[in-house]
Amino acid sequence: MAFELHQTMLAGDSPGASTTLYWYTAGPQTAPTRVHLQAALHADEQPGTMALHHLLPRLRDADTAGQLTARFTIFPSVNPLGLATTTLRHHIGRYDLETGVNYNRRWPDLYPLIAPAIAGRLGNDPQANIAIIRAAVIGWIESQRPGSAIQQLRLLVLRSAAAADIVLDLHCDDDSLKHIFTSPELMPGLQDLADWMGVAATLTAQDSGGGSFDEVLPTLFRKAQLANPDHPIPAAAETATLEYRGRADSFDHIGQEDAAGLFGFFAGRGLIHSDPGARPQPAPGPTPFEATEVLRTDAPGLLAYHVELGERVSKGQPIADLIAMDGPQAFMARRPILAGTDGFVLSRVSGKYVRRGASIAKLVGTSILPGRAGAYLLED
Ligand SMILES: [Zn+2]
Repeated sequence: MAFELHQTMLAGDSPGASTTLYWYTAGPQTAPTRVHLQAALHADEQPGTMALHHLLPRLRDADTAGQLTARFTIFPSVNPLGLATTTLRHHIGRYDLETGVNYNRRWPDLYPLIAPAIAGRLGNDPQANIAIIRAAVIGWIESQRPGSAIQQLRLLVLRSAAAADIVLDLHCDDDSLKHIFTSPELMPGLQDLADWMGVAATLTAQDSGGGSFDEVLPTLFRKAQLANPDHPIPAAAETATLEYRGRADSFDHIGQEDAAGLFGFFAGRGLIHSDPGARPQPAPGPTPFEATEVLRTDAPGLLAYHVELGERVSKGQPIADLIAMDGPQAFMARRPILAGTDGFVLSRVSGKYVRRGASIAKLVGTSILPGRAGAYLLED
């Protein structure tokens, strides 16, 4: 049986400390297609882990029945270092507390690192070119000497992802509808995933500015193609960040639904020989992430929302009132925070006390917003 639990020890950064990463593989080792699934890179985001909890037995059973035609590598909770970080009884899963670095930022820009290794070696066979690039990435990873536990983890995860044709990174937002972040050239190729997930939006960006995990491989192949225009280099890794609603949305019935969506997607691709059933209603097509407004406050206060998730809004419409918490009208005055675009409400925040500059909503529009084009697009 190919379904297997693995344990990898990450040597700790302090005496006696080490961390164990648990992960699974399923499907034939020699399968032509490889799938990399991970959840909770932001270790305080559990809905993806719940989805994979419900997907794992289905993959095990499909494996037992000989139905898997892809090799799956699954990290149900990919960041045990982040799971371990609590301070003042609060779980800090988004940032490495030692360095302040967001776990889903500053992933490497691989092309410049492997360009010397592939120089003069590319030919006219796209699949051979992909193999050369992947081997160069693996070679670069193996040449690294990680200086910390988190670097060990990042290299281990990247090594698995770099070998894969489909790379799905499961996250969640704060209070949110389901959505996908991916690279523009991967759409409409991943529209089937959007449909099976039932997302409210697919937001695309070549470079959102933060070095997110899901941008590493599309950026690698894009840069390789641009630098080697005489050689065919397809976008060989379908990579996406899957946002499974809000942080509180971790329940069995939701996880089962999300696992069923992923199973349907894989079955629909022929990676599991099983009837995927009827493809769900089409999800909306992609929109540029630059057309999504990240609405922010210009003062601290208490939020009183006027809108629900999914609600259509017009530019100038109040999204929330901000109740003053200081000044001459403290706890009496309130003023509206206005939408800067036509669109719909994709996300809100669950903590209603906000500081100045806090993002309070994402509004998905269709027109590129001034100030967003070419800018840092992420919330933190
Ligand atoms: Zn996240």
